[in-house]
Amino acid sequence: MTVRSDIEIAQQAQLTPITEVAAKVGLTADDLELYGKYKAKISFAAIRRLQKKADGKLVLVTAITPTPAGEGKTLTSIGLAQAMNKLGTSAVVALREPSMGPVFGMKGGAAGGGYAQVLPMEDINLHFTGDMHAITAAHNLLAAALDNHVHQGNALRIDVRRILWKRVVDMNDRALRNIVVAMGGKVCGFPREDHFMITVASEIMAILCLATDLMDLKKRMAAISVAYDLDGKLVTAGQLGVAGAMAILLKDAIKPNLVQTSEHTPALIHGGPFANIAHGCNSIIATKLALKMGDVAITEAGFGADLGAEKFMDIVCPYGNLQPHAAVLVATVRALKLHGHADPHDLASENTAALQAGLDNLAKHLDNLQQFGVPAVVGINRFTSDTEREIQLLRTWCAERDIPVAINTCWRDGGDGGKELAQAVLQVLKQETRPVHPLYEAQTGIAEKVKTVVQRIYGGEDVVFTNKAKKQLQEIEDFGWGHLPICMAKTQYSLSDDPQRLGAPTGFTVTIDDVSLCTGAGFIVCRTGNVMVMPGLPKVPAATRMDIDENGKITGLF
Ligand code: ADP
Ligand code: MG
Repeated sequence: MTVRSDIEIAQQAQLTPITEVAAKVGLTADDLELYGKYKAKISFAAIRRLQKKADGKLVLVTAITPTPAGEGKTLTSIGLAQAMNKLGTSAVVALREPSMGPVFGMKGGAAGGGYAQVLPMEDINLHFTGDMHAITAAHNLLAAALDNHVHQGNALRIDVRRILWKRVVDMNDRALRNIVVAMGGKVCGFPREDHFMITVASEIMAILCLATDLMDLKKRMAAISVAYDLDGKLVTAGQLGVAGAMAILLKDAIKPNLVQTSEHTPALIHGGPFANIAHGCNSIIATKLALKMGDVAITEAGFGADLGAEKFMDIVCPYGNLQPHAAVLVATVRALKLHGHADPHDLASENTAALQAGLDNLAKHLDNLQQFGVPAVVGINRFTSDTEREIQLLRTWCAERDIPVAINTCWRDGGDGGKELAQAVLQVLKQETRPVHPLYEAQTGIAEKVKTVVQRIYGGEDVVFTNKAKKQLQEIEDFGWGHLPICMAKTQYSLSDDPQRLGAPTGFTVTIDDVSLCTGAGFIVCRTGNVMVMPGLPKVPAATRMDIDENGKITGLF
């Protein structure tokens, strides 16, 4: 069998005009702002009109601790929506927009794979409808306003040694991590150390994803803390007077993007924070809209259930007043074998011993979902190299524990390959669900919140804060922001803060070396060591395998 790449499959798909896709969920041409034939933004008026409709059921797609290649959450989310539609249930998927950092770096795109993709995948993976650039512009407008304020006399008495707001670009560019700005003499301002982050790590991205509408977005932007003043008080974007202008730059970016899957089911793609350094879920606006558009809305939270799903439950659900009714825990034979200490270069050969040993990781993530009260279905994303014996082992393991499990082959078969999973999820959705709950109370102290996540979700023993982090934490509580939820910044490759520790490690201590306040997004970022807000490119970047011909046909996008 010749295996075609995602882009080859995507290019052979016949797309339906987006107006027809929209019509399936009751949206007219007037409700759409078209970006060509196959992409559209949904107007505020349409969003408002749909408010009157009852909500569908919400399904959260999460995963075990992934390998660097990703375990197929996006693909499973899309395939599940396709399968449900085949079974006669109208399902809409709401996903994040890919960042160009990973596209040109190592991981590749985030538009699904095989016969479960969102299309047009080239556009979605590249500039799409420009949201990422709008976020970059809004972010950098604030940075420019800040430096200009200092240059023009510094009425707010900003302490240039204590500036919090960095600059952003949507690219993996390690050379920009630590830079000096304002060189060149008096007319260029006051030289200082500055830093770039990747756009998806911007607080503006988090705000876009957590805001419930344009006015909420504007309010949150005004509340962003950009620096300290000479008295040690926080200076906000609102004080710099640019929150309105920043909101203007985001007036279109805040509207969800409608595209279609490989089988023409409607898909909303909107907002894209990473789950290791940010909160890892698409916009609340898109998820809420998906709940109005379909009987079932399917959304993905990034990386393993220790990261994206935890943040979905502790940050997104409370802010968006969302209630997931079921979760799909995506697992792959190859990742489980890796957790069972199989040779990382030989994950394709049958190895039931390693698979058995790696199941600890699956068990821990199931436990995590249970702690939030979400009923889970294990979704095995099948690879062609998986053997019958390996699959049977997984089925038996789940059956012995009374955990619903389904194998999906959506990568190879599209929606048809997801029917077993769709049926299992629909079965769970029929049951009466109890409301889900966050892991900690808002009023709990920051250190206690971190400890709760470390012990209950990561399976660790304890948490320590460096002296710097302790001081930061104290200050945030003194400022009166201790009630905010925490957003952990941690490696995605281990349940612990050490990427080398696979499986389900125990007895470890997590070290927090930085605690920072996002007063606009409304969370406190607690960083464990070695998590980068500006990734670098690998030795052979994915970009070096890409090309375009005279007809505009792209190759090598993956
Ligand atoms: P995640 O969302 O969990 O990071 P994705 O759904 O983006 O993972 O999948 C990551 C990559 O792996 C994609 O390029 C996809 O095509 C590929 N992939 C996923 N599942 C399979 C599979 N069953 N067979 C082959 N390739 C797959
Ligand atoms: Mg994904």
